[in-house]
Amino acid sequence: MSGFVFSEKPIQIESGEGMTLTATDGTQFLDFGASYACVPVGHCHPDVVEATTQQVQELMYVQASYPHAARTALYDQLADVAPGDIDNVWLCNSGTEANEAALKFARAATGRSKIVATTRGFHGRTMGALATTWKDKYKKPFEPLAGGVEFVPYGDSEEVRAAVDDETAAVILEPLQGEGGINPASTEYLQAVREATDDAGAALILDEIQTGLGRTGSMWACEGHDVVPDILTTAKGLGSGLPIGATLVRDWVAEQHGDHGSTFSGNPVTCAAAGATLDVLQRDEIPAHADEMGQYLRGELEAALGDEVREIRGQGLMVGIEVKRGANRYLRDLALEHQVLALPAGRTVLRLLPPLVMAEEHADAVVDALAEVVT
Ligand SMILES: *Cc1c(COP(=O)(O)O)cnc(C)c1O
Repeated sequence: MSGFVFSEKPIQIESGEGMTLTATDGTQFLDFGASYACVPVGHCHPDVVEATTQQVQELMYVQASYPHAARTALYDQLADVAPGDIDNVWLCNSGTEANEAALKFARAATGRSKIVATTRGFHGRTMGALATTWKDKYKKPFEPLAGGVEFVPYGDSEEVRAAVDDETAAVILEPLQGEGGINPASTEYLQAVREATDDAGAALILDEIQTGLGRTGSMWACEGHDVVPDILTTAKGLGSGLPIGATLVRDWVAEQHGDHGSTFSGNPVTCAAAGATLDVLQRDEIPAHADEMGQYLRGELEAALGDEVREIRGQGLMVGIEVKRGANRYLRDLALEHQVLALPAGRTVLRLLPPLVMAEEHADAVVDALAEVVT
């Protein structure tokens, strides 16, 4: 094998359906993290498969300056589901590219360069997005990164007010940190950031790449806090696993966005997958279902594990369990002994990001498995 960037796990996955992944030896796994929030409507949802298959047969590529029905429909759908008056859509191929564009658009629209980011934030791994990511381990070997980034403690309203000034192009943050350990932000904090950016004429970029598309119990996490950003980024679950991201911006940003582009922007196949995914999310009221299932899951986790772990936190179906020892041993036991796949978020946090179509029986199975592994 010549792959070298990822260390691979001893489980070879062959197929997926709904909540389940099947390995080459026939073992079935419950997916509570292997898909990294990328399949909100479940693996290989029939509507997504159908829309994508049709599009593959008809046209696999045309450059984005030629209008295409699947892309035009997706522009409209995204503007429709976006919070507030965010109506302008830029399509790309991943989360980091969506943030990269967000940072460029904010600089072009404001004519300023300073970016304020947060401790423990994660925004991707290209040189610009990486510069706004907190963890040194991800950054050090690649420096120098894009300049002009100042970090403030996540959750501290005073510090962000002090950092945002008339040289600030944007503040970028996640409304609930994923990679950084499942750290929720308070409404008071997010509203303070909104106020500080408004007062300074800076853009507020909310990175909803992990929190969006129903994950936290509403289409976007910011809706629960009554905050509308100037720029919102989404990716991960947007194409049900096909590579597509989007940067959604208000008019004042779109009006002076500089010059940006990408060959695969608005590819018809990924647009068809994203359109079908959004259709299912809305038609089946999946964000509300995620809210209900999240309450159930967290309640059951608290009852079964509350005394054994440091904390259970999160929102909707974005759940973190802070354990007393390293999370990796638990994750291995969960996978190999209980056929449950989950994720870490830092050294001591188990992260659960199941498809949003899960049912109570899936929560029960995972809680039973966790209770055995952790106690
Ligand atoms: C995953 C993630 C990204 C990066 O997305 P990629 O598609 O891996 O480039 C950025 N921000 C957040 C919050 C994420 O969870």
